[in-house]
Amino acid sequence: MSLLTGSMRHHIPGYKDLTEKKEIQEVKAGSQVLIPLYASHSTKFDVLVKEGDHVCVGTKIAECNDRMYVPIYSSVSGTVKGVQKRMHMTLKPLDHVVIENDGKMEETQSFAPLDYQSASREELIAFMKEAGIIGQGGAGFPTYVKYEQAKDIKKLIIDGAECEPYVTADHKMMETRLDDMITGILAMRKMAQAEEAVIVIKKTHTEILQKVEAAVANVSGVSVLPVVDVYPIGWERALVRLIMKKDYDKLPSEVGAIVNNVSTAYAFAKALLRGKGIITALFTVSGDGVANPVNIHCPVGVPISEVIAACGGYLDENVKLIAGGPMMGKTIVNEQFVVERQMNAVTVLKTKVFDTVSCMRCGQCCDVCPSALQPVRIAQAAKLNDKAMMEKLCAMDCIECGLCAYICPSRLDVTENVRKAKRQLAMAKK
Ligand code: SF4
Ligand code: SF4
Repeated sequence: MSLLTGSMRHHIPGYKDLTEKKEIQEVKAGSQVLIPLYASHSTKFDVLVKEGDHVCVGTKIAECNDRMYVPIYSSVSGTVKGVQKRMHMTLKPLDHVVIENDGKMEETQSFAPLDYQSASREELIAFMKEAGIIGQGGAGFPTYVKYEQAKDIKKLIIDGAECEPYVTADHKMMETRLDDMITGILAMRKMAQAEEAVIVIKKTHTEILQKVEAAVANVSGVSVLPVVDVYPIGWERALVRLIMKKDYDKLPSEVGAIVNNVSTAYAFAKALLRGKGIITALFTVSGDGVANPVNIHCPVGVPISEVIAACGGYLDENVKLIAGGPMMGKTIVNEQFVVERQMNAVTVLKTKVFDTVSCMRCGQCCDVCPSALQPVRIAQAAKLNDKAMMEKLCAMDCIECGLCAYICPSRLDVTENVRKAKRQLAMAKK
């Protein structure tokens, strides 16, 4: 079913100034890392190491072969202590490979680098698969799948809009790793066999916009598109509609587009140039509940408690921790989760208690919904467990952007109730 795109005219405060001018802070791994066995489509992994094994930075420790192949590489050198169940940022207990860090950061090359200019499209796709490149915009979907299935692609859309408030990780990546990112984009364009790659950046982010424009000025087939600062303009469907002037049913490739995030292009370049998989993460720690909001670069698997300590700790004893940005991220009950390969942010907000009142039927949640849904009606259907109504109201088309809860004058958590409706429908299908 094709979605309608709603009004898409809502600007929300960005709070980007908290972190965007600060240097990236390097955080080292402590005594141990816990590497989650998770790919966005699966938690079924073959673990390739056992307790007592020595690993280096870059040793392949696990691989997922459940429909899609995704390898995972060690982020430190040291000794494998086993596999442990631990709370994951998806709010489920998941297996993590525990590695005792010897502090030496002894490296092994995970795979040979590849010259994208001489490699064929097929070789590049196979390389991306073996490198374990997953979407860095938060979803973590295996990227090679988009290219393997692609045909007649006209445009490669590279999303640098970074819509979520507080989050500036993509911005800092572009500021500091721009040449590599462009290499990644050129390789991806070759894989897509697309005529053009378009990097999308918000008009209001003038400094980075000008920097990227200057960097691609003489690069044939790569351009920058400044876009209006509304939320959620970086949503895949909104970008495709804006650039291709078409809607699609399931995948952007139906209308000749592939969409990837700017940091995914950078991760791919790192693999091509240096033979490294995703073993570190660059992400924003920000919000009014953390002492020193900053962008962090650190090995995958470092506990979030250590990251928060490196940011000076909390500013209040009552804070809400969110894996991701405040609009689409997931609230985590404690700081036991770890740095993930696709992590782009941890938001720390002081807990505010609001008195909720009954729905006043103002209709604002319907007005702002970018999927043109009626969140208030879906939320009511969820409360009544009325699956037929949830289906009729297309609850599954919700992208969980959070705008309906953000706008609600009654302070109702409309988004959570729409999520509930989606869970109820998904369980019914199973
Ligand atoms: S979270 Fe709310 S506003 Fe956003 S897509 Fe879902 S129903 Fe619409
Ligand atoms: S925005 Fe809130 S108060 Fe208004 S209709 Fe939606 S749920 Fe009701």
